[in-house]
Amino acid sequence: DNGSEVRVFVRIRPTARFAQELIEYLPDGETINIRQRRDSKRDVVNNQLSSRSFRMSGVLHDVSQEDVYNTVAHNVVLGALEGYNGTIMCFGQTGAGKTYTMTGATESYRQRGLIPRAIQQVFSEVENRYSYSFTIHLSYLEIYNETLLDLLSSVRGTRAEPGGLAVVEEARGGVSVKGLSLHPVHNEDEALNLLFEGEMNRVIGSHAMNKNSSRSHCILTIYMESHSRTLSDARYITAKLNLVDLAGSERLGKTGSEGKEQKEAMSINRSLSFLEQTILALADRRREHVPFRQSKLTHSLRDSLGGNCNTILVANIYGEAAHIEETLTTLRFASRMKCIKTEPAVNEHIDP
Ligand code: ADP
Repeated sequence: DNGSEVRVFVRIRPTARFAQELIEYLPDGETINIRQRRDSKRDVVNNQLSSRSFRMSGVLHDVSQEDVYNTVAHNVVLGALEGYNGTIMCFGQTGAGKTYTMTGATESYRQRGLIPRAIQQVFSEVENRYSYSFTIHLSYLEIYNETLLDLLSSVRGTRAEPGGLAVVEEARGGVSVKGLSLHPVHNEDEALNLLFEGEMNRVIGSHAMNKNSSRSHCILTIYMESHSRTLSDARYITAKLNLVDLAGSERLGKTGSEGKEQKEAMSINRSLSFLEQTILALADRRREHVPFRQSKLTHSLRDSLGGNCNTILVANIYGEAAHIEETLTTLRFASRMKCIKTEPAVNEHIDP
């Protein structure tokens, strides 16, 4: 695999009520079939099922956090240390396991998720690469109702940006968030402390604004820069690794909700449907215009979905019959995402 396609994994949340009759995965480890009752009256009478088949890069059921890490993230992190951008995203309905996959269970070391494990791998690799000097920074961005929030603005010494945060486009198709604080980190502990502070701020902010934390998108970014100690030339490499926990993908706001809830729901529905439109445009190579600017989420991920990036999607699903509709939606999204081609290339620069 030369990493020329977005890689897409399905992770099934463990349950005692796994719907074997509706969810079937084949021994190839890549195919998942979903059976569904047909809607028409006659089919209901005959108890007919229709089946849809999805090809993924892998199906993860009863897989430990460590094995999930090794399957989905290990190589992307290695790539980032060598100058290839990487993005790992979790997508799925609320409760399906996105945060468990990304961050893990905070009270249990064995159950820590992709982010703390990526941080650990980064620093252990850096220690072993004597002939390079690395500079690592972190940022933590939350997108809530189309507003960009810096989850690390409370860290001592951080200056608030008076104009707020904004996505800005850079040369060569890159983007950055103006005003987002970047924090230098020298070891795993410093990085984990920042992660913890960001998580706290996410929770505190959600209480203060009376919002549910599954109603926002969060992007933790690890920036790496490395200079060779042996070569006397001015070349150096950089890469960004984005770890993205998306808002719950369930369709909301159809019944009953009003006011703030309604606004949140509309905002999420819109940003996820813009994400979907962007993905369709990226997957369709004839399409010249990709509508990144429609939402803050797609705009801030402009350089991190297709193009110059190793991109991974984890589609989190429930294995229970009650959630089969949302599961189908999630898998449809995942199989669209799998059609996107990527062209990862080393980000090499030369000091002026
Ligand atoms: P989401 O972020 O998608 O809303 P969470 O990650 O918060 O969902 O998961 C909901 C609950 O299910 C949490 O209590 C979480 O610990 C548990 N959970 C999710 N996936 C797993 C898993 N693979 N193994 C064990 N527990 C899980």
